[in-house]
Amino acid sequence: MIPLSEPEISGNEWKYIKECLDTGWVSSAGDFVTRFEEIVAKYIGTKYGVATVNGTSALHVSLIASGVLPDDEVIVPTLSFIAPVNVIRYCSAFPVFMDCDPETLCLDVEKVSEFLTSECIFRDGYTFNKLTNRKILALLPVHIFGHPVDMEPLLEIGEKNNIIVIEDATESLGSEYKGRKIGGFGKLNCLSFNGNKIITTGGGGMVVTDHNELAEKVRHLTTQAKTDTIEYDHDDIGYNYRLTNIQAAMGVAQMENIKEFISLKRKNSILYRELLFDMSDVEFLQEKPWAKSNHWFYTIRVPKKHKNPLIEYLLSKSIQVRPIWKLIHSLPMYKDFQSYAIDKALVVYESCINLPCSVSIKQEEIEFVTDCIQNYFK
Ligand SMILES: *Cc1c(COP(=O)(O)O)cnc(C)c1O
Repeated sequence: MIPLSEPEISGNEWKYIKECLDTGWVSSAGDFVTRFEEIVAKYIGTKYGVATVNGTSALHVSLIASGVLPDDEVIVPTLSFIAPVNVIRYCSAFPVFMDCDPETLCLDVEKVSEFLTSECIFRDGYTFNKLTNRKILALLPVHIFGHPVDMEPLLEIGEKNNIIVIEDATESLGSEYKGRKIGGFGKLNCLSFNGNKIITTGGGGMVVTDHNELAEKVRHLTTQAKTDTIEYDHDDIGYNYRLTNIQAAMGVAQMENIKEFISLKRKNSILYRELLFDMSDVEFLQEKPWAKSNHWFYTIRVPKKHKNPLIEYLLSKSIQVRPIWKLIHSLPMYKDFQSYAIDKALVVYESCINLPCSVSIKQEEIEFVTDCIQNYFK
């Protein structure tokens, strides 16, 4: 079996985790947590990092810390893993679903702008949705499969309309936009270290930001909003969302190798492209001139009628491939929420397949995958 995405554990993971076990620092206090936060924040170029139990909790507290309240609205892509949408509902706020750019699969920034211009109104310093009369408080772009969203126009839109930008950078640690690392553009930005991400701590996440006040707020909310180190005194409804030292130890070891992971991913991605270069039925996604992807996932586009049969064929050859996510605005619990002019994402959903992309995938395995794809089309 060639897996879709396997973690790569070949550095100091055992050594650092053993240190936690030997010293008894296994829980959510300990040196590795602080070290991990500092290493990741420095890598991205933000001032602060606050580790969390997973990416979903990072997103959830980021929304709370940004001041998202019940009945506010948050703009989010329909083509995404579901976590950033669910956290909007955790806050009893409302998602407004947007389309994607078929070349990168990321949020269609032009349509966001169009929506805000034609469907919203700016009053009392905020942007309101004319249809629902609710305040649009945040924009939640997701950098899909490692490719950055076109951040410059999006930040401008945020600025102009007084809408906070929160990056879902869970898939794009190490990716760059115009030479700067993703995760440093929004007010608060979220990472995930789940088992299939570019680096992993088993499960884990982080909020990175340049704003001291927000970092402190996130730290506070993730530690049960406890105000005193001795007394059980709390000043808010907090969460138990902190990462453990054992997980952070693994993260520190993983970060030592992130450069190598990304360069291997890039190399493998190029190999796939070369081997499938002459296949007219197989297209790869574009990397925009301003983008440097971490090449987390390898996505191909095939004619609609071939998507499911090709997936079945590759699975029958023990190659773990996957369709991309069902569009969230079409799922039963989200179908009644507002979506704006979504058409491109429908086509994208019907044509995309993700290929095996582990850091450790071997050249022979990639050749086997591409041979099978070629055989299918024969
Ligand atoms: C993985 C992922 C998350 C959530 O991360 P977890 O650590 O699994 O909670 C959120 N958003 C996107 C786009 C993801 O891919």
